[in-house]
Amino acid sequence: MEFSQYQTDALLTITNRPPLVFTEGQGMWLTDHAGKRYLDYLQGWAVNCLGHSPRCIQDALAAQAKKLINPSPAFYNAPSIELAGLLVRHSCFDRVFFANSGAEANEGAIKLARKWGKKNKNSSGVDRYEIITFEHSFHGRTLATMSASGKTGWDQIFAPQVPGFPKAVLNDLASVEKLISNKTIGVMLEPVQGEGGVIPATREFMQALRALTRQHGLLLIVDEVQTGVGRTGQLFGYQLSNVEPDIMTLGKGIGGGVPLAAMLCKEEFACFEPGDQGGTYNGNPLMTAVGAAVMNEVTKPGFLQSVQDTGAYLSAELLKLTDRHDFQGERGEGLLRALKLGKDIGPQIVEAARDMNPVGLLLNSPRPDLLRFMPALNVTKEEINQMISMLSDVLKKLGH
Ligand SMILES: *Cc1c(COP(=O)(O)O)cnc(C)c1O
Repeated sequence: MEFSQYQTDALLTITNRPPLVFTEGQGMWLTDHAGKRYLDYLQGWAVNCLGHSPRCIQDALAAQAKKLINPSPAFYNAPSIELAGLLVRHSCFDRVFFANSGAEANEGAIKLARKWGKKNKNSSGVDRYEIITFEHSFHGRTLATMSASGKTGWDQIFAPQVPGFPKAVLNDLASVEKLISNKTIGVMLEPVQGEGGVIPATREFMQALRALTRQHGLLLIVDEVQTGVGRTGQLFGYQLSNVEPDIMTLGKGIGGGVPLAAMLCKEEFACFEPGDQGGTYNGNPLMTAVGAAVMNEVTKPGFLQSVQDTGAYLSAELLKLTDRHDFQGERGEGLLRALKLGKDIGPQIVEAARDMNPVGLLLNSPRPDLLRFMPALNVTKEEINQMISMLSDVLKKLGH
C-alpha cells in the first residue's frame, strides 16, 4: 500500500510524523506499510523493554483476555495482586497503586505527598505542599506534571501553572537547600533525566539528597518511569546510589509496550483514604498480567547482568565512534545512553538514518546536539554492531 492511500487527516496533529505507517514489530525490528524494515533504537521511547511483541507478552495478553479483562478497580483481581507482590518483593517499597500512564502515576505521587503534607503540617500549622523538582526534568503532560517538569517554555504554554513546584539544579545540593521552606513536603527527581538529555544524578548527589530530605522531614520521590524495570542495569535506578526513596513511580518498561504504570510507597506514607485516589482502568487484570510477565522476565537470574554487559558494550562502541568523528563522548546508565555530538546535527542524523535504504535506523535526538539510544533490554551485540555500522554510514553520507 502507498502512504497516500491512508486517510490520516482525521488524526489530530500533535507532532510532525514522517509519512510512514508501521504495521509490524518483532524484537528490535519494525516494518512499515511498504514492507521496509527499521532497526528500532527507540522502542516506543524506552517502553518495549523486551522488544516488539515478545512471546511472553503475547501469551499473557491472550490468556488473560480469555479469562477476565476488567472487573473494576473497586474489586480485587488476581494479576494486580500478583504484580504488586512482585514489585514489593523486589524493591524497598511496601504498597503499590497502579495507573495507566507515567504522568498519572506521577500525579498519584504528587497527591500522596500533598496528603502527607496536610497530615503533617509545619510548626505554624500550615499545610506543606511544595515539591522541589529540577530544571530540564520531565514528569509528564498533565497540567500538574507539566508544572512539575523543568522543560524550557512549559511554564508558559498552558499558563497558569499548577503552583508548588520550585525548580532546583540537578547535582547541585545547595540549589535544593535554598528552596526548602516551611511549605516544602518533598523533592522529586529522575535518577537519570531522560528527556532532558540522559543526564544521570550522581551517586554523591542522590546520597546527599537522601540525607538532606531526612534531616528536613521531606519525602524523596523518584520518577523512574524511564529508568525503572532494568533500564539502568539495576532493577530500579535508585539502587545505583544505594539510597531508599520514600515514593517511586514506574511507567514505560513495566508494561513492556502496553499502558501500565505504578506508584509505590513505603508503608508509613500510605495515607490515602477511600475516595482520594482511583481510576476506571487502574490495576485492570489485562495490563497487570502483562506487567507480571515483564517482571518475571527481567528478574530472571542473569538478566540484569546482561543489561549491564550490553550497556557497557554500547558505551564502548559509542566512544569509538566519538574518536572517529570528533564528537564529545557519551553518557548514561545501562541501556539508556546518549552520544554527545558537540554540534546541532542530531535532527538531520535522525532523518537520514530513518530514510536509509534498504533498511532504516530509528534514533532519537532529545536535544539537537545529542542522540539517545534506548534499545530493548535484550538487544544483542550483533544488533549493536549493526546500528553502529549503519550510523557510521549515515555520518559519512552527511559529511560528518
Ligand atoms: C515518559 C515519562 C513520563 C510520562 O509518562 P507517560 O506514560 O507518557 O505519561 C514521566 N516521567 C518520565 C521520567 C518519563 O520518561
